[in-house]
Amino acid sequence: TSKTNCKRLSETNVGDLLDSVDAFLFDCDGVIWKGDTLIDGVPQTLEMLRSKGKKLVFVTNNSSKSRKQNAHKFQSLGIQVTEEEIFSSSFAAAMYLKVNEFPPEKKVYVIGGEGIIEELKLAGFTGIGGPEDGKKTVQLKANTFFEHDKSVGAVVVGIDPYINYYKLQYGTLCIRENPGCIFIATNRDATGNMTDLQEWPGAGCMVAAICGSTQKEPIVVGKPSTFLMEFLQKKYNIPTGKMCMVGDRLDTDILFGQNAGCRTLLVLSGVTSQSTLEDPSNHIQPEFYTNQISDIFDLINH
Ligand code: PLP
Ligand code: CA
Repeated sequence: TSKTNCKRLSETNVGDLLDSVDAFLFDCDGVIWKGDTLIDGVPQTLEMLRSKGKKLVFVTNNSSKSRKQNAHKFQSLGIQVTEEEIFSSSFAAAMYLKVNEFPPEKKVYVIGGEGIIEELKLAGFTGIGGPEDGKKTVQLKANTFFEHDKSVGAVVVGIDPYINYYKLQYGTLCIRENPGCIFIATNRDATGNMTDLQEWPGAGCMVAAICGSTQKEPIVVGKPSTFLMEFLQKKYNIPTGKMCMVGDRLDTDILFGQNAGCRTLLVLSGVTSQSTLEDPSNHIQPEFYTNQISDIFDLINH
């Protein structure tokens, strides 16, 4: 007997799901690729969905790349995806500032990668910090004073493999001392596939560091935020009930879809195992689950 409320995707239910959905929102890592390795059967599946007239959107919490850099990654894996179809948490951070009319004369301090700096620039904002501050060190001696830019009006925190005490002090001072300075987190994922073979600490740990020093909670712009879902809805004007969110993580992807009333499909090709899904302590149940997205292709063409 099944220990979960959700249905395994099957020959019987896949047709109905496809017929009733106009857009598929795909999470990337664990669904399309794992690290830098393409997951089996992905190109055929995406092609089939496109041929059926489905709108495809790719939503990744990984903030290390810009939309353009992500589009290159898709192309290098043999999948044709345009920049406009990609919604990375780096882009979401820039769009949050844009939508909320952040003054372009103010600066944005970045604890994170080049992807965030690039998206800020494309949106007309000045990002400082980021990779440039990766090699900076602090002087912890008597009579030294750490200076920070008073014109910083927002701090954006994402995955940062080069996080250091300099960046922590810089971001903390901006949030604590610059009046009205906002604290944005690209995402709070516990882990990320920084390499193909292992999981690594995700942006959640960098965000937690700044929460700890400022005693403030961030505005999260990636999955499962309502900001990103509302942004997508305005962009595509498709009712959420006609969208299906496909992802491998329960507390980001499935929650993101569920909160908005989207259909949801969990794939077991990433961080969630069937035993985690069925564990009594798990309260996030997708509508459907399957091993990997190529099952959609196989079940339709059985
Ligand atoms: N954050 C980091 C640093 C990652 O490396 C990854 C996956 O590789 C993610 C987040 C999750 O990305 P996605 O939302 O595409 O699963
Ligand atoms: Ca994922």
